[in-house]
Amino acid sequence: MTKQKQPIKEALNPSTTFKLQQSLIEWYEKNHRKLPWRETKNPYYIWISEVMLQQTRVDTVIDYYHRFIQKFPTIKDLAEAEEEVVLKAWEGLGYYSRGRRIHLAAKIIMDQHDGRIPERYEAILALPGIGPYTAGAIASIAFQQPVPAVDGNVMRVFSRVFHLQEDITLMRTQKHMQQIGEKVVSHRNPSFFNQGLMELGALICTPNFPKCLACPLLQLCKARALGVQEKVPVKQKKPKQKERVMEMALIYKKDKILITKRPKEGLLGDLWGLPGIEQEKDLKAGRSIELELLETYAIKVSNINYLLKKNHVFTHIKWHMLLYEMKLEEEKEIDYPEIKWVNKNQLKLYPLPTAFKKMIPFTE
Ligand code: SF4
Repeated sequence: MTKQKQPIKEALNPSTTFKLQQSLIEWYEKNHRKLPWRETKNPYYIWISEVMLQQTRVDTVIDYYHRFIQKFPTIKDLAEAEEEVVLKAWEGLGYYSRGRRIHLAAKIIMDQHDGRIPERYEAILALPGIGPYTAGAIASIAFQQPVPAVDGNVMRVFSRVFHLQEDITLMRTQKHMQQIGEKVVSHRNPSFFNQGLMELGALICTPNFPKCLACPLLQLCKARALGVQEKVPVKQKKPKQKERVMEMALIYKKDKILITKRPKEGLLGDLWGLPGIEQEKDLKAGRSIELELLETYAIKVSNINYLLKKNHVFTHIKWHMLLYEMKLEEEKEIDYPEIKWVNKNQLKLYPLPTAFKKMIPFTE
């Protein structure tokens, strides 16, 4: 059962807070990783890196970050780009709604803020796709504002240092963590303080086997003193992932294959991919996609041959993807949904999620 919010007033006395700030800032100065977005004070670049880092590993983000800011060096360049071009630059990072919101926010910054990211935390927070963590990171790192930036790593550190046993998947716990952040954030150097907390969570206070003996907060840490550091934070178990069997079609017309734009609403909305449909249990293998092609795309096929199977895991769903190669027999014109016949080079122009890349022979 989830424990109630615990009073931590006594833990947040001025002397503890001072030691926490000083130890973290000193540790961060000496130990932080040299990452490209830490070498800049440009709020736009910091913003892009923070959004990319949500749910994506640092190693993966580095290349994407360089490519993205090379392609869109200013907010103006980003705001003026076509959405499909922005999504193409986002291709492979997943969570495409992040790319879409960045694009929308860039347009708002151009229209309402003279092309500059606003400095005030509340104004940053009002932009699309920017939550309290990202707003706090931009305001503190780029503008030295004493506001917290509380992400999963920071919640883990707080839970352990103050021995909080609240379930961190709950909204009320996240609000409580934000309040703790507001109380402890350094006014002298909010940038290094916040980055120090994040870095500590990433390198030292890791989910499993925290390296307490190398930790600058060892003397302050209540969970460590009680020997329960691996029992916090408390986290409700995730609901079981749904599984779907998807049938997909590989249809050639000379050197071109058929791709379709996915419906706006739903998984991978507005992105391009192979025609696909969830397999209907009562139908024989390959029949679901054959019917889908006929009913949705007015395309008649024959000679359906199973080619390969691959899996792809999204946040809540796992796709078991079955690819069928088939022969085009007949095609009628349709207005909707959008389809294209593309060759290898043309395919590169479309934002293609990783799930489909795995299935198309010449994209890997
Ligand atoms: S002492 Fe251990 S558990 Fe406590 S903050 Fe440091 S690494 Fe985390």
